[in-house]
Amino acid sequence: MSSTTLSGSVALVTAASRGIGRAIALDLAEHGADVALGVRDPDAAPTIALADEVRALGRRVTVVPMDVTDLAACRVAIDAVVDELGTIDVLVNNAGGGIVEDALDVTEEHFDAVWALTTKSAFFISQHVAKHMRSAGGGSIVNIASQAGLVALPGESAYCTSKAAVIHLTKCLAVEWGQYGIRVNAVAPTFIETDGTEPALSDDAFRADTVERIAALHRIGQPREVAAAVTFLAGEGASLITGTALPIDGGWTAR
Ligand code: NAP
Repeated sequence: MSSTTLSGSVALVTAASRGIGRAIALDLAEHGADVALGVRDPDAAPTIALADEVRALGRRVTVVPMDVTDLAACRVAIDAVVDELGTIDVLVNNAGGGIVEDALDVTEEHFDAVWALTTKSAFFISQHVAKHMRSAGGGSIVNIASQAGLVALPGESAYCTSKAAVIHLTKCLAVEWGQYGIRVNAVAPTFIETDGTEPALSDDAFRADTVERIAALHRIGQPREVAAAVTFLAGEGASLITGTALPIDGGWTAR
């Protein structure tokens, strides 16, 4: 893929401060996009460092406060990105997460929190960005789902169902918004080395079991391996691809 694949476009990435979101923001910038970093704390040191890295690539960057559970604030942030960078061509709904808990113990409060962070945010942030995309004649949305939305992971029922809903949301929005030139896709990563998975993966038995279940390649993924797929789906190389969820799972779901 050439470094100009996304040249002249503007991308908004949620939960961009760390992990997979950070890798996606950098990869999009490396492929030519100006980048808006949606983060909980715009003044946090990792976000400031990331913004500097994007600028060093010669791209424009803006940082906007986006706690994705505060949708009113997100709508204000999205409008601010359009005001500052002119448009939003690419939206990456990266925010998401879960609580490891037996389904017998999941409280309504925990369930609602997981779905608000993962699914409701993707729905309503997409909705507001899509209004701008429709006015501009099109765009591309990539949702960061999970293999947890394709297969059941014991102890993660609230998370698995929230990610399965993200995958179905991807299809629903693709079918509704194709008429506006908006493509909507998802990626479904296996376990990736991030702060979020560090506690689980530092347990030797859990890590060995995970590597075994990554059925073909038998290794944990890296954030850049998710980012590369997101950049592909975001760009013109994927111009006929919409409504799909691409597993990035080393073969976990193939077995
Ligand atoms: P992570 O390392 O756990 O980092 C969490 C990120 O989410 C941080 O940037 C954090 O911001 C942000 N965040 C948390 N709550 C937020 C909120 N309410 N509003 C906005 N941002 C919020 O995350 P990750 O492992 O990179 O995961 C990123 C995405 O990939 C998630 O949707 C996750 O479900 C999905 N995924 C991850 C894996 C994996 O193995 N890592 C596998 C499949 C799918 P702060 O810096 O402010 O805390």
